[in-house]
Amino acid sequence: MQKDDLLRLLRDPNLLPSEKQTLLSNIAAQAAAMDMPCYVVGGFVRDLLLGKPVNDLDVIVEGDAIKFGKSLVKAFGGKLTTHDKFHTAIWHLPDTWHLIPDTLDLITARKETYLMPGALPTVTPSTIQDDLLRRDFTINSMAIRVDGGHFGELFDPLNGQADLEEGLVRILHPRSFIDDPTRIFRAVRYEARYSFNLEPSTLNLINSESLDVIPRLSGERIRHELDLIFEEKNSSQMILRAGEFGLFKMIHPSLSLFNPDYSDFLEMDSTLDIPSSKAEIGYMLWLMDSSEDEILSIGQRLDFTSDLTYSIWAVSQLKKSLPFLVGSTPSVWTYALEKLPLLSIYMVYLVSREDALLDFLSIWRHVKPHTTGNDLKSHGLQPGPRFGEILSQLRAAWLDGQVTNEIQEKELLAKLL
Ligand code: ATP
Repeated sequence: MQKDDLLRLLRDPNLLPSEKQTLLSNIAAQAAAMDMPCYVVGGFVRDLLLGKPVNDLDVIVEGDAIKFGKSLVKAFGGKLTTHDKFHTAIWHLPDTWHLIPDTLDLITARKETYLMPGALPTVTPSTIQDDLLRRDFTINSMAIRVDGGHFGELFDPLNGQADLEEGLVRILHPRSFIDDPTRIFRAVRYEARYSFNLEPSTLNLINSESLDVIPRLSGERIRHELDLIFEEKNSSQMILRAGEFGLFKMIHPSLSLFNPDYSDFLEMDSTLDIPSSKAEIGYMLWLMDSSEDEILSIGQRLDFTSDLTYSIWAVSQLKKSLPFLVGSTPSVWTYALEKLPLLSIYMVYLVSREDALLDFLSIWRHVKPHTTGNDLKSHGLQPGPRFGEILSQLRAAWLDGQVTNEIQEKELLAKLL
């Protein structure tokens, strides 16, 4: 791409908001003043060339990113967090800029060596060329130089632009998936996100040799990639494709394929205002038909929080007990559901369409008697287990329609006392 065309994209406020353009100019001016080659890289360049709006800037310098960060703070304000070991810094942008995100990663161009397949690489400072050669796919291995007069020069040593035009996801070298099989998950994500194809030799390298490295990956790294998949718009297509490649059995022998019958629920908008992430919903749908032991063991492998494992377990238990609950009175339903996470109940509603679950979520769980503990005390009752029993009997009467107003509740209370 010609420099003029790239400059046009960089100056298009529909692609890069003007406040981000100012941020980029400030960085560019400071890098020029320090005589430090400075680039934006990765997803920013890929999406800009695709004509898609970009927001997150990934900044790389050939030189010391920490020194660069300190000079940015001196010139523009804000704060710096440094990671000396990785030669990186996080610039906490001045509050008055009101930017989202309010931080910017500053990274020293680096070279990576893999001592062992699946392990984290060893990192040493190097050139932008080396930095691009350590990346996952050609479409992610382009940089735009921004310092001073170099502003808007595309650096594309691996011909990512051609692959972008042809819609190909291509790894950089044949050992790429063996060095880091999380890239297989990433390939699936980009393929479906952009309706691209895996370049044929890349596709061939998703084979037993690279899949065999997956068991060596930490649970946290695999879960991070799965989280990213679930957060995507086309997550159902991605998770089904990942299943086709046989990735799941390599993560955990009991991890089954994602049930295609549930895949539409991955892309729904409403969860009745119950706080949730798309990843949580994804794991609940994926594992709801697994056994208790499988859920615990897969949860350990993927480093789930105990809350997430519990919510998945609750979905599976509720789904299994549904046939026994159908036809129960509202008070029985409420008693059975009350201790379970709301999202777990909603997930079971989605797959079963059992109306009682929705009634519980929207109505029954809010039903409370008028009588309080203080009222019981004023009737001379001492606090104790009997308190709870009376209150829950009153509540059950409301739920089951035996009591419909306060006078009736008082009459029932008199009988119970
Ligand atoms: P998006 O967030 O839109 O998927 P991104 O490019 O911003 O795309 P990140 O996950 O933020 O993705 O990664 C930033 C860059 O780091 C990528 O563009 C890629 O060049 C590189 N990268 C990320 N993960 C890997 C990996 N496992 N191996 C090699 N390079 C990677």
